[in-house]
Amino acid sequence: MRMTAFYGSDFDELDAFDPEIAAVLLSELERIRGGLQLIASENLSSPRVLTALGSTLSNKYAEGYPGRRYYGGCAEVDKAENLAIERCKALFGADHANVQPHSGASANQAVYGAFLKPGETLLAMSLPHGGHLTHGTKVSFSGKWFNAVHYGVHQESEDIDYDQVEALAREHRPKVIVAGGSAIPRLIDFERFRAIADGIGAIFWVDAAHFIGLVAGKAIPSPVPYADVVSFTTHKVLRGPRSGAIVCTEEHKAAIDKAVFPMMQGGPQMHTVAAKAVNFKECATPEYADYARRVVENAAVLATSLGERGIRPTTGGTDTHLSLHDLQGVGVSGKDAEARCDAAGIVLNKNAIPYDPAPPSVASGIRVGSPCVTTQGMGAEQMRQIAELIATAITRGDADPEHAVSREVRAQVTELVTAFPAYPR
Ligand code: PLP
Repeated sequence: MRMTAFYGSDFDELDAFDPEIAAVLLSELERIRGGLQLIASENLSSPRVLTALGSTLSNKYAEGYPGRRYYGGCAEVDKAENLAIERCKALFGADHANVQPHSGASANQAVYGAFLKPGETLLAMSLPHGGHLTHGTKVSFSGKWFNAVHYGVHQESEDIDYDQVEALAREHRPKVIVAGGSAIPRLIDFERFRAIADGIGAIFWVDAAHFIGLVAGKAIPSPVPYADVVSFTTHKVLRGPRSGAIVCTEEHKAAIDKAVFPMMQGGPQMHTVAAKAVNFKECATPEYADYARRVVENAAVLATSLGERGIRPTTGGTDTHLSLHDLQGVGVSGKDAEARCDAAGIVLNKNAIPYDPAPPSVASGIRVGSPCVTTQGMGAEQMRQIAELIATAITRGDADPEHAVSREVRAQVTELVTAFPAYPR
């Protein structure tokens, strides 16, 4: 009864009306199923999350917040948003949650809106050392509208240079200090950042987009007790819909809510808000905690196994879901490695390594992540096998999918993903 009452996700009807788009939907699913997905920022969200995303909540205009909307007819979507907020607060032990940001970049935009005026100073990790575009790079609004000062990593340890963070904070007195980024394999010392921020009266903001899923599963320490504000995406390790969210202390609640709406966004995407609520419920289960622990375990085995094959992990390994590897020892660029892996059915990305001599479009490294393959149920044995396949593709392979090595590796990838399917039929 409830099944037939649900409207949406009727693939056959879509296929009959628009076979071109239906074909794209199917072939993307086959692409995911057919290869090894090692992009550290991707995951395979559950069919439940996808169901909420494909629902009629997509239709509803709901500018404002539950109980305080600018449109009528919001009683049902209010329930969804209240559930998402309460679940998010409980999951992270946060005073307040805003679940409306459309994405990680939108969430970050709102944090800027809440705390900085144009021309004011922020201190964040530099992009080539593992930061993010939205942390004050010149091509982003954040670098165009604010005065961004950047810290980096030690040349030797390749981990965050906290002394440099402190020195730059004292010298530039930023209004906001940001921790987090997109290629940081190690745990971040939130306590040290908090102390540095307190020393100059700055807001401490953690952009936890990459690792928030590990925090949700209690596999790594949480930034929430230390930070004024934590922004994140919901589609990476967390395994929810493609979206964003912000948690903050009671003190900053009003500023964050006003910055998300009406300062930065219009109507929230209520289907995605409902999907976030589903995801937060999933993340509170023992199964998800076990998943998060296995993500970290698998990433460590993958990093070590690649290192044993001459593909050196920066910082010597990882504590999280991703590792960054220096290819200079095997004499292959990040760009070529990405293309050779792609031809062999292994999807990963080239990445700058700290102090990279190559331009970002070529790069000397690759970034690999364990979220997708762990969702598929793979473990340590498969990580060692994957490391061998990556090493073979990079050192002996070719960008041509018809090359003998590409074919040989692809055949083994097919065996692996057949044994551990994504979205089992
Ligand atoms: N912040 C960090 C640290 C990220 O890694 C990303 C995306 O990779 C973002 C923000 C932006 O997220 P989105 O792509 O959802 O806008």
